[in-house]
Amino acid sequence: MRKPIVLGNWKLNGTTAASEALVASILAGLIEWDAVDVGVCPPFILIPQVIHQAAHTNLAVGGQSCSEYVLGAYTGEVSADMLREVGCRYVLVGHSERRALFGETNEMVARKVNIALKSGLTPVLCVGETLEERQSGRMNDVVRGQIQAVLNVVGIRSFERLVIAYEPIWAIGTGLTASPAQAQSMHAMIRGVLSEHDPAVARGVRIQYGGSVKADNAAELFAEPDIDGGLIGGASLKAEDFLIICRAAADSLRFI
Ligand code: PEP
Repeated sequence: MRKPIVLGNWKLNGTTAASEALVASILAGLIEWDAVDVGVCPPFILIPQVIHQAAHTNLAVGGQSCSEYVLGAYTGEVSADMLREVGCRYVLVGHSERRALFGETNEMVARKVNIALKSGLTPVLCVGETLEERQSGRMNDVVRGQIQAVLNVVGIRSFERLVIAYEPIWAIGTGLTASPAQAQSMHAMIRGVLSEHDPAVARGVRIQYGGSVKADNAAELFAEPDIDGGLIGGASLKAEDFLIICRAAADSLRFI
């Protein structure tokens, strides 16, 4: 059984008051804890507050990134150990905005996954292709390369302890969503790459879809056999929409 997982990526949004109101609404509406894992990834500064508010609930909290370093003279960085110490369960690694805007390479992403695993966090490894890469038919090679770079550093068995998020870059924040068939095809490809190393690990790893998932398209995406929930940006800032998406994921729970 692969339990679906829905994570909200708040990006650079939220004030103390807005975050408190959003988390309160999510906690008030969230049910079916057994059928779906749910978490939110606030900006670093809001994480302790959200962890405090979500204490003794099943709402997990994650970071949106972490340093590739453990400690030392790295001004502005936040380490995986620090996230773990304040109570985070997850950390997003290699989100396309980090790759495109902050120069994160496949090798850096692999080092971050490694360090997150060592700290006891569950890394959410984000992969995905640009529109140009899709249109030129290179999307499978690009995503395979992103996965392979991590495999090279942490090995296949570590994929038992992480989550993958397939996020086509052309679908993030654009309102364009990959069709269920396009997403399913890529998810199956990713599982196939892992299966070349260890079929059991490949069967067990959870692969989220991300990219303009909304309340009205979540169910059809999550119905695909290799899609195990979603990484949600914009729609995670509206409790009502986020809860509908969580419900759709819970309803997609199936046995494999
Ligand atoms: C994301 O930021 O990971 C994301 C998928 O954003 P959106 O849902 O807004 O496309």
